[in-house]
Amino acid sequence: MLTVSEYIDEASTKGAPRPGIILAIRMCVLGMKLLEIDDLSAYHKKLVAIVETDRCLPDAVKLITGCRLANRTLKLKDWGKMAASFLDLTSGRAFRVAAREDVEPEALRTFQTLPREEALSQAYLAFVDRKLFEWRPILAKLSPEDVPGYRGKRLLCERCREGIGFRREVSVDGLTLCRACAGEAYWLPDVR
Ligand SMILES: [Zn+2]
Repeated sequence: MLTVSEYIDEASTKGAPRPGIILAIRMCVLGMKLLEIDDLSAYHKKLVAIVETDRCLPDAVKLITGCRLANRTLKLKDWGKMAASFLDLTSGRAFRVAAREDVEPEALRTFQTLPREEALSQAYLAFVDRKLFEWRPILAKLSPEDVPGYRGKRLLCERCREGIGFRREVSVDGLTLCRACAGEAYWLPDVR
């Protein structure tokens, strides 16, 4: 593990880091501290991070933990919450860390002479963990198909005939369907 400021340097190749990335880095460093993980090289595919928002958080998770979508160790629950859970698959221990909702007003109050972005950055650097976050140990509900390395049979959607992996199929009226055909599609055919 590097220090918070070393991670910030790594994340700051395009100018000064945004407050959000500093907070996200702090969150990940705390997650690793709670799990007592220092040498991340020993945790290849044995650490899973579940982030509850996009923007800065997935980038910080990838930078610090190496967890990423491509090897299925990073999961996104797009809930719009500045929170993440860290699961150590070797020990079964897991923690969820959430940013405190009162941290922003507190930051602006503490550094009221600074412009907003700078005040937030200063606070996210200076505040102790307890002032920034709430956390708790959790029992994560990770399905077997969500564990990195899962190998399972691919099925065919009985409507669109596209393949479906990782048991993401759903059963509707006795038919095996992909999520899109089952009504969760995020798109419509463009017939203009
Ligand atoms: Zn389908």
